[in-house]
Amino acid sequence: MDAEKFIPENIRSLKPYVAGKTIAEVKNQYGLETISKLASNENRLGCSPTVSSAVADAITRIQDYPDPIASKLRKAVADRNGVSEGEVLFAAGSESIISILCRTFFEHDENAVTADATFVGFFVQAGVRGVELVKIPVTTDYKYDVNGILEAIGPKTKMVYLANPNNPTGTYLNREEYKRLVDGIPAHTLLIADEAYFEYADGVEDYLPALNYRRDNVIILRTFSKAYGLAGLRIGYAIAHPDLITQMMKTKLTFEPTATAQAAALAAYSDTGFLKKSIELVENGRERLYRFFDEKNARYTRSISNSVMLILKNEEEAIRFTQGMLEKGVILRRINAFGLPNCVRITIGTEKDMGHFEKSFEEVWTTIRN
Ligand SMILES: *Cc1c(COP(=O)(O)O)cnc(C)c1O
Repeated sequence: MDAEKFIPENIRSLKPYVAGKTIAEVKNQYGLETISKLASNENRLGCSPTVSSAVADAITRIQDYPDPIASKLRKAVADRNGVSEGEVLFAAGSESIISILCRTFFEHDENAVTADATFVGFFVQAGVRGVELVKIPVTTDYKYDVNGILEAIGPKTKMVYLANPNNPTGTYLNREEYKRLVDGIPAHTLLIADEAYFEYADGVEDYLPALNYRRDNVIILRTFSKAYGLAGLRIGYAIAHPDLITQMMKTKLTFEPTATAQAAALAAYSDTGFLKKSIELVENGRERLYRFFDEKNARYTRSISNSVMLILKNEEEAIRFTQGMLEKGVILRRINAFGLPNCVRITIGTEKDMGHFEKSFEEVWTTIRN
């Protein structure tokens, strides 16, 4: 069938999402027992043990539509963040919120300014909406070029999108850079501060959460997919001026997120002990990985998220490295789709995962660098 004749150019030019390999697939394909899936920035500790009974209870009511505004959860999140309930909106993951942003705010001839190496989900949703993307290259140390971003904003720029800390680099805007960025953004432009890794970054000395330096034209995104370990349930939220939230409510799918996801998130949000353990695991794992890479003279970026980026010589080396690790049962993510073909992203896992990573790295690295 000639489907293309039905398809507008902005959709035709999108590439279909290529899913990473599942644990079961890798086990089968290479005949392995132990797999470390360090490819998708998931929480390798799982999620709070309180989630399963909350989900079991919610399952008894799945014949009913969910609460479209996630009232209970919304109150919990608003209270903890010191904002009003009208400033918070829940959807099926921050990716859904990004889609809501693209559906709500763009006129046909407007553009968005972002970085060339940041979360691919924004590139995709902007592409679906046919929005022109102005991508400013990251600096040679893989940080945002604040001046370049500010200079690229024009009269047709509706949105600046930045993940802070960034994915896939793990780098971030420091306090001074964030303030300079926000203060430099004109009133006709929205800043989307995607804080998917907020829980890991919060408390880092010169990291400034957007909520601590608020402006009416800033929309903050957070998620339950990373530190809370609920990626499979699809739930995230936005914090913004209530007048913006009211408009976003119009384009949100009425009954997202599911009731099960809302119940799970509420349980997970209350378990601060599990959250603390998840954050400590990542902090210790990052330090261990830095020491390991330093010993091997491998190049990487220092991160305040739950992943570390390994920098290879070129795309070919990145492909060989990732494939070699896969054959040892370590699933990693090449980030060509994020704009960095020579880099590989490593999610911090459990101690066992990191041991598996190091042992496999020793074997694969000699075939790469000799
Ligand atoms: C993982 C990630 C998301 C996606 O989060 P979901 O809530 O699972 O849709 C959004 N933004 C960034 C920067 C991410 O790394």
